[in-house]
Amino acid sequence: MSLDKPVAPDRSENESTPTLQVKNLHKAYNGNEVLKGVEFAINRGQVKAILGPSGSGKSTMLRLMALLEPADDGAVFLDGLQIGTSNSKGKTIHHSEGKLAVERRDIGMVFQRFNLFPHLSALDNVALALISVQSIKRSDARETAFRLLERVGLADRASHFPSELSGGQQQRVAIARALVLKPHVMLFDEPTSALDPELVGEVLEVMEDLAASGMTMIVVTHETRFARRVANEVTLFDSGVIVEQAEPNEFFENPQHERTKRFLSHVH
Ligand code: ADP
Ligand code: MG
Repeated sequence: MSLDKPVAPDRSENESTPTLQVKNLHKAYNGNEVLKGVEFAINRGQVKAILGPSGSGKSTMLRLMALLEPADDGAVFLDGLQIGTSNSKGKTIHHSEGKLAVERRDIGMVFQRFNLFPHLSALDNVALALISVQSIKRSDARETAFRLLERVGLADRASHFPSELSGGQQQRVAIARALVLKPHVMLFDEPTSALDPELVGEVLEVMEDLAASGMTMIVVTHETRFARRVANEVTLFDSGVIVEQAEPNEFFENPQHERTKRFLSHVH
């Protein structure tokens, strides 16, 4: 597997400008407040792991960050530019669908369920966005897609359909697909939770290589060993707020909050 070349595009932004940032993010469903003013930022090249109990709002936060859903209040910034809705103090920023689509391309997302197109080969699953979104010639798109499949160790599976691939292989195709538009940041929502245990390792290995190549990554996961080894910072999310954020050793060895201690006592 070779992910040695940087996948992230070169950017000239000030190093201190977060690649992705949310401020005061609020979201409720049917009056049930799921996000209660989340503040979160990630800088270029960082890997942040997010842990937290089921139902605490982790997926909601990622969906809002990826602009798949609007926030009720708060703001999302990509490379310092506000891209998400904000309606605090009566101010509302509306984004046209066209503009949203452009901004979404800079944020790659990988879900628990890989959702590959079943009627397309692995290669065409990866190539599709280049052809349909970027209008790149099919042969060029396939060449780029093939290189990405090589990077996730699946060059020999390029012509296979999803039903002919294992769950781990499908998830690696999904990662290649998310990389194809050269996102500035990759969001992973429990990418190994739906996999048989023996297939988890190959996906984590691809993610670790991606991190080593310099990709900026936010990873919601239950894999504490991965978080400890790969992340620069670990976050505990609970009941719609961030409880604790710390560098992995500190987070696991010397947690400051009772809630974190309790959480870790169950996962260790
Ligand atoms: P997590 O990813 O931490 O398990 P989620 O963000 O999926 O948590 O969900 C947080 C809460 O929000 C849950 O109570 C869930 O039922 C609720 N929720 C999430 N998405 C929706 C939705 N589209 N409609 C209604 N409720 C939702
Ligand atoms: Mg979730």
